[in-house]
Amino acid sequence: LLDPNNLRDHIRTVPDWPQPGVQFRDITPLLQDPAALRVLVQHFVLRYMHQKIDVVAGLDARGFIIGSIVAYELNVGFVPIRKKGKLPYTTIAEEYELEYGSATVEMHADACKQGDRVLLIDDLIATGGTMMAGKKLLERLGATVVEGAAIVDLPELGGSQLLRDSGLQLFTLVDFA
Ligand code: IMP
Repeated sequence: LLDPNNLRDHIRTVPDWPQPGVQFRDITPLLQDPAALRVLVQHFVLRYMHQKIDVVAGLDARGFIIGSIVAYELNVGFVPIRKKGKLPYTTIAEEYELEYGSATVEMHADACKQGDRVLLIDDLIATGGTMMAGKKLLERLGATVVEGAAIVDLPELGGSQLLRDSGLQLFTLVDFA
């Protein structure tokens, strides 16, 4: 039951979305299925329940869904890392390159503190840019990113390797070529 490959069947591939040539890996069927959702959460909870984690940070937007469930189960707080312009209080920001153009993620300046041990969660790692930007934000506040976690890795895009090369420990459940 806990073989992560069973989760693969609940991830839908949508060809040519959001643009031609992209194979979008859609995790909504996985969230929709109660048994699959429970197994998914258990993978993360079992991995982190005996580690010292002070806070879970989730990346906008699907990282919020899984990240907040995991935070709740680990009995720690949840911090959102949002796309630019969404957070109301004082923020810090990181800009990063996309295939076409750039993007910016923001976090509240008081979202974590020096020495906090943070678990950083998203649904998927493609080029790794989003998670790298999240890691930088957390580190600017003096936090330690214990691990980056995602449901899906697209290893051929090189993002997970890039993140590992930068010193980030990573945990992902399903690879798609
Ligand atoms: P990266 O920054 O290139 O690693 O892209 C990862 C970010 O884009 C994550 O926040 C994902 O939610 C989103 N993303 C990119 N491709 C996909 C996909 O195929 N399915 C779901 N999310 C994706």
